[in-house]
Amino acid sequence: MNSTEKYLDKFRHKVKANKMKQSYQRDIIVNFFYESKSHIDAETLYANLKEIEPSIGHTTVYRTLKLLCDFNMAKAHTFVIKNTTYFEPIDEDTHHDHIICSRCNKIVEFLDEEIELLQEEIAKKYGFLMTDHTLQIYGICKECQEKE
Ligand SMILES: [Zn+2]
Ligand SMILES: [Zn+2]
Repeated sequence: MNSTEKYLDKFRHKVKANKMKQSYQRDIIVNFFYESKSHIDAETLYANLKEIEPSIGHTTVYRTLKLLCDFNMAKAHTFVIKNTTYFEPIDEDTHHDHIICSRCNKIVEFLDEEIELLQEEIAKKYGFLMTDHTLQIYGICKECQEKE
């Protein structure tokens, strides 16, 4: 099984475990969403899907994304640039943070061990057990700086 097949398989198992019906449309959405391997908003996902499968409705796309988040298979991010929610597929252990260019809206992922540890320490210092965090850095990317 390749990673897309694994992802879809996991989704179908969860659907079954939740006593929901399998749906052809939903499978296409999940497949396409995973293959897009990026941060995508529901509108764009819908527009792209419409081209390959016209029978897919707006609501199904939204519900499927919501379902993926509930299943812990996708993460929703709100980046300040467009005030839109972006979704990205998550596999096991793919935690990362984001740097966002406020000119061209490019989204870059990064992971810094030191920052990760520091955040745990801060949580501990305030008596919290950290379960999750979101870190977003905004700026102007190299390409956009060069254009100026
Ligand atoms: Zn840029
Ligand atoms: Zn990301």
